[in-house]
Amino acid sequence: MLKRLFGKKKPDDDGIDPYEEAAAVEAASGHGESIDEIRAQRDELSTLMAGISDAILALDLEESPLFYNTQFAVLVGQGRLNQGRSKLIEMIRDPDIIHAFRFSLEEGKTFNLKAIPITQDDRRKFYSLSVSPLRRPDRSVYGAVGIFHDVTDLKLAEQMRIDFVANVSHELRTPLTAIKGYTDTIISDLGMGRPIERQFLDVISRNSDRLMLLIGDLLDLSTMDSGIDHMVKEKISTEELTSRIVSQMKVALAAKEQKVETHVRATHVIADLKRIEQVLVNLLDNASKYTPNGGTIRVSWEENTAHDVLLKIEDTGPGIPPEHHDRLFERFYRVDKGRSRDMGGTGLGLAIVKHIMQRHGGAVWVQSDMGKGSRFTCQFPNENTTRV
Ligand code: ADP
Repeated sequence: MLKRLFGKKKPDDDGIDPYEEAAAVEAASGHGESIDEIRAQRDELSTLMAGISDAILALDLEESPLFYNTQFAVLVGQGRLNQGRSKLIEMIRDPDIIHAFRFSLEEGKTFNLKAIPITQDDRRKFYSLSVSPLRRPDRSVYGAVGIFHDVTDLKLAEQMRIDFVANVSHELRTPLTAIKGYTDTIISDLGMGRPIERQFLDVISRNSDRLMLLIGDLLDLSTMDSGIDHMVKEKISTEELTSRIVSQMKVALAAKEQKVETHVRATHVIADLKRIEQVLVNLLDNASKYTPNGGTIRVSWEENTAHDVLLKIEDTGPGIPPEHHDRLFERFYRVDKGRSRDMGGTGLGLAIVKHIMQRHGGAVWVQSDMGKGSRFTCQFPNENTTRV
């Protein structure tokens, strides 16, 4: 049956040539198969091919299609198939893909490609491709079939891992270089009998703190990644939690003469205490850091119509340009790298918040009005809520 399907020259819209099909039906009827049976088999195979998420293209020795499925038509764009341009080179421009098919047709061997970039609807996607020869019963090659498998998510995950390792190395090296440099200076000053500069020791102490924070955040993230930390959910008073965290931060807030307003419309939330404290600390710390002296930070606990508990932290800072909103929760992503580092940020605070919210089955997002401020909203889903 496969051979029959592959045995046509100019496929129609569903990749099947009606003349070839008629010939196959005629030939088959001589062998005792009924036309209905053949049609049923054909439809079955067509449905099967359309249901496969991979894109499939089979070519004959002249590089014209024997068969392709709907996913392939989507992959190359229907236009390239409809305009009667049926040769491989007219359907596909990528030289690696063309080489893979030619190799398989000429050498009669399988050819694999790992991650070929293909632009689809203005989106860059990655496909693996495996092209294998099609053989007759006498083993002679009459074509080749290629299977395109979408590996975009895998490729992006791999890229994120590579970027992450590079970022971690860079972030760790910066404070370590400062510590090493200033320590060496003090040692050489001591050797020369010069007094130790207090300022140098301050730099060392500050950078050691930074390193400790960074390593602490990294450890937190990797524990959450590995899933070895057990979440213990409990009923938490939102008012008590907020006032405890705000009072922990009162020195930093007073130093910038910032005011915190709390509005409690949802009195309780069911969450892991340690983790929800971390969410509040990270968001309040950012609100304070990025808001100028004298600004106001508003913390509100509310319920939406679906009875999810919403924690909103709003500031009167500079705001965050919309083009950064999607990437803000990525590890080490910063709007202004230099400024964030100067403020002692690790670049991991929002990534941790996102992770914690996901572990609670919820979400976090940002809204911002440039020049007016930012609002971070954490949503704890319905099953975790206790109604007021
Ligand atoms: P960092 O340690 O650098 O603050 P985060 O992950 O907490 O790292 O935040 C990522 C980036 O998002 C920050 O570097 C900053 O550019 C931006 N950002 C976070 N919160 C705010 C805020 N409230 N106002 C303005 N920018 C913010």
